[in-house]
Amino acid sequence: MEFFDCHCHTELSACAEDVSLQMYTEIAEKNDCAFCITDHSAHLFYPPGQAWAFWGDDAESIFDESYADGLIRCAEYVEWVRKAQTGNMLVGVELDVMPDGRLVFDPALLPELDFILGAVHGVRGLEDRPLDEVIDGYKSRTLRLFEAGARALAHPFREWKQKERTVPESLLEWLVETAKDAGVALELNCHFHVPEYDVPMLRLCAEAGVPIAIGTDTHRSYEFGDFTYHIEMLRQAGIAEDTWPTILMPAPVVVRSD
Ligand SMILES: [Zn+2]
Ligand SMILES: [Zn+2]
Repeated sequence: MEFFDCHCHTELSACAEDVSLQMYTEIAEKNDCAFCITDHSAHLFYPPGQAWAFWGDDAESIFDESYADGLIRCAEYVEWVRKAQTGNMLVGVELDVMPDGRLVFDPALLPELDFILGAVHGVRGLEDRPLDEVIDGYKSRTLRLFEAGARALAHPFREWKQKERTVPESLLEWLVETAKDAGVALELNCHFHVPEYDVPMLRLCAEAGVPIAIGTDTHRSYEFGDFTYHIEMLRQAGIAEDTWPTILMPAPVVVRSD
């Protein structure tokens, strides 16, 4: 089946390598594949030269100092991608949220996007804080993203794996239940492989009827269009291929007046 890739970065994401908006435009002109441009909102919002500030100790103060310019950069990004939009390419963002719940993007621009991919980046305290505290912070930021209109949650447990912190089964269950209540999809992401959490997440999603979003999280051109990991995980989770069209999140239907 044709997958909708909900997660692609351009040169405006500081961690992107050889990808560009131009590259995606050329792909969308030649192919009918559906995908969404989702640059990191923190990389867009924070000043050039301080792209990683969101992950640092001064995230809050730099956010406050650069707020007005951050809003302008967000607007410029949306306009830039919208102008390049062609074929089945969608305009979105990988939306960051501060630990205190403030969105790292202009909230007024969110309704203009075709798709919002929420992400809890920089999970606080994974290295050394008590599990209850880490979970509380993770849950509150997830809920804030859902409330802000995220249609899918990116790579739910990537950082837990990266920081070697075990995800409690109860948190996985909470996430699936909460996503179901909110009508939000959970992303199966291949940029960093987390099979030990992806397989149980897929099974729970399938049981609960929570849509699964397919994301390549393309940072390098060769990652685009490669769904090998997704297919392998869906198979390992025992999700029959004939059910994929109903369980996987379809490309959002975008109605534009212009
Ligand atoms: Zn991400
Ligand atoms: Zn990403």
